[in-house]
Amino acid sequence: MKKFDMSRRGLLKTSILGAAAAGAAGFTSTAAAAGEAKTPKAVYDAVVLGAGPAGLIAAITAHDAGAKVVVMEKRDRPDGNAIYALGSVCGWGTRHQKEQGIEDNAEDFYKMMMGISKGQGDKALNRCYTDNITAGIDWLESDVGVKFGKIRVMPYPRLGRTCRVVGDKGLTGGSALVQKLLQACAKRGIEILYEHKAVELLTDGLNRVTGVRTLSEKGFEDWSAKGGVLIATGGFSANPEMVCRYIGGWASRLVLRGSRSTTGENISLVLPLFAKCVNMDQFHAGPIVAATHVNPADVLNSGYGIQVNTSGRRYMDEKNTYVIKARTTARETLDNAAFCIVDSRCPVLDKVIAKFDRLHNPYGKADSLEELCKQVGLPFEAVKAEIDAYNEAVKTGSTAKMNPPCSYKKAYPIDQAPFYAVPFQGGMTATFGGPLINVKAEIQSLDGGSIPGLYAAGNAAGGIFFNDYAGGAQLGAATVFGRIAGREMAARAKRAKA
Ligand SMILES: Cc1cc2nc3c(=O)[nH]c(=O)nc-3n(C[C@H](O)[C@H](O)[C@H](O)COP(=O)(O)OP(=O)(O)OC[C@H]3O[C@@H](n4cnc5c(N)ncnc54)[C@H](O)[C@@H]3O)c2cc1C
Repeated sequence: MKKFDMSRRGLLKTSILGAAAAGAAGFTSTAAAAGEAKTPKAVYDAVVLGAGPAGLIAAITAHDAGAKVVVMEKRDRPDGNAIYALGSVCGWGTRHQKEQGIEDNAEDFYKMMMGISKGQGDKALNRCYTDNITAGIDWLESDVGVKFGKIRVMPYPRLGRTCRVVGDKGLTGGSALVQKLLQACAKRGIEILYEHKAVELLTDGLNRVTGVRTLSEKGFEDWSAKGGVLIATGGFSANPEMVCRYIGGWASRLVLRGSRSTTGENISLVLPLFAKCVNMDQFHAGPIVAATHVNPADVLNSGYGIQVNTSGRRYMDEKNTYVIKARTTARETLDNAAFCIVDSRCPVLDKVIAKFDRLHNPYGKADSLEELCKQVGLPFEAVKAEIDAYNEAVKTGSTAKMNPPCSYKKAYPIDQAPFYAVPFQGGMTATFGGPLINVKAEIQSLDGGSIPGLYAAGNAAGGIFFNDYAGGAQLGAATVFGRIAGREMAARAKRAKA
């Protein structure tokens, strides 16, 4: 593949194109400013934007339904959040559950999905997920050749619902999934155009989407789509301006846990067409250390120890989940940095410290609190005061009355050397906001109804998730709504030809 010219002249050309593209796809565009298709470079039934799981799944499905498909990917390889993902896919009634004797049903699954979103997730979309995920997981195995490992059985109400894609040769499960999808595309001869960034949607003047304009080293090119265009470009977690605008300034200090390529074209492409964007302030967070990307979630979730900021002060309830702890750390500490102080009782230390050692990520370990604080640069007096107060509250059974409260069901003192200071920061996994879709994956208009020919799936789509997500449900949603979008675009193209 031809690479971009990295010479000064080449870079100058690229930056001029970038500036033009930014203007073309800018927020302030109106539908009238959205380009009208000139002579298209090629005509397809379905044009898919983004070569992540949602886009590739849609492309394969549309192809298998008889459509001529192209995938436009802005990088020189798939470069979205999937590459960083563990590869869990959340479903019920799967072959794996049956083989492992896990009894489950649609109603419990749907209730779990809605419960996690505190009832705020779109009911029809969550029902649609529930009704289609079993077939989606089967299809990933039978038609794409994805290999899932054993389900880890969990207690009710979560049960064992996540099928984990087996990552091999050092690949994450998410990368292995993308590889399998790429192989399935290659087998079918599906065209993927790399280094083609979607910069603008094309309409027929009645706000019906007819194609897309891309930017590559060849400049702007227009592509026609008879059945529709699918936005599968991921969310906006890697766009600090959007994160600041939609979530808040504090959130733009979150460390990115995933891709730098998810820069919000799910929003900037569709706003000029008056798409209805929802849940824009919602996202998933998790702990991380920026320098090495080590994930200390297990120690934060262990139910042991306290968390202190870099001034040595407690600043949140230790009972919170790792998701809330990560979010709170970015919001409540100016430097988005904190430590989990635990003693040798903490049962997950072996696992967590092994990860820190493997990545050469510094942490504190000492027989005295004074030495521990010296190692990691924490003010000893402040940390000692917090631990003394906490240990006293444990003794009297009054941790819930502390300020802030610590509502561990059973609290353990911090008094058995060696002591550990495990660093962490708040990290951003993915944004949940985006253009609202319906159960046909059609993007909804602010004026009501669907925008003809415009679809979204995966992290690009809004409506499904709110507050948090069931582990594996993001890749599950990419599977369910990617397949639906593929089928819908193929059917619409057929209708257009009839
Ligand atoms: C650390 C981490 C762990 C995770 N683990 C899990 C897990 O185990 N289970 C789970 O369900 N979810 C998990 N997720 C979330 C999961 O990765 C995402 O839900 C999933 O990748 C979404 O797929 P997608 O196809 O929508 O987007 P992505 O995988 O983000 O792909 C988007 C693609 O679009 C391309 N693109 C962007 N803009 C343009 C443009 N303008 N034109 C053309 N192409 C463009 C990008 O380069 C990229 O290739 C995890 C995320 C992270 C960060």
